[in-house]
Amino acid sequence: MSTTDLAADRGGLRPVRALGCLLAPPRCLACRQRGVTPWCGGCAQVVRQLARGCPRCAAPRGAAHACWPQDAPIDAVSAAYDYNGVVASAIATAKIAGVHAAWPALVAPLVHRLGAQPPPVDAVTWVTTPAVRVRQRGGDHAGRLARLIADGLDLPCTPLLSARATRGRPDRYTALHRLPGTDLLLVDDILTTGATAWRAGATLRTAGAGRLHLAVLARAGTHTLGAATR
Ligand SMILES: [Zn+2]
Ligand SMILES: [Zn+2]
Repeated sequence: MSTTDLAADRGGLRPVRALGCLLAPPRCLACRQRGVTPWCGGCAQVVRQLARGCPRCAAPRGAAHACWPQDAPIDAVSAAYDYNGVVASAIATAKIAGVHAAWPALVAPLVHRLGAQPPPVDAVTWVTTPAVRVRQRGGDHAGRLARLIADGLDLPCTPLLSARATRGRPDRYTALHRLPGTDLLLVDDILTTGATAWRAGATLRTAGAGRLHLAVLARAGTHTLGAATR
């Protein structure tokens, strides 16, 4: 991670924005209706928390799905929500509109799930956001998620990847340390094709990491994970 990354990340909430969060009335995480949180009645009916599914990829139990290929660097996945419109709105609001106060309520079901069967890991880390997007969004949201999860599980949380945005190509990751045999909980917000988690996981594995358990807020669909890396 670059010095810029660390500075932006350590800054956490900017003072004015943090004050706004503290003074803001409770709102639905998705439609922003005032006076209710985390969800209003209408959104609560559409939010779908995922039951514990396939331990390796978190696809809903019983759903026909193509699991991670054998050579995937990810050993297990925990996901809290099905990635539908309401959850997508809530994540976009938290991440793009900078409503950082939304993260704890969004992440609580994931922390609860992980806490019920704690993954056997040594530390928590996250799929780092490239510095250019950290500046645009006012922080590294995956890092915020990782710290909330680490606090909930009483585990250390540390940045282990630096990320570089490359024009027209997927982000490139570099390991910040050698990690011989270190088992990790890798945090990101959404699991879609699995290509990002694959690249980040493969980088950690090349650095020597042991078992990698991926924790995401939401999982989209039941398509073949990692297909985009083939
Ligand atoms: Zn709502
Ligand atoms: Zn599976």
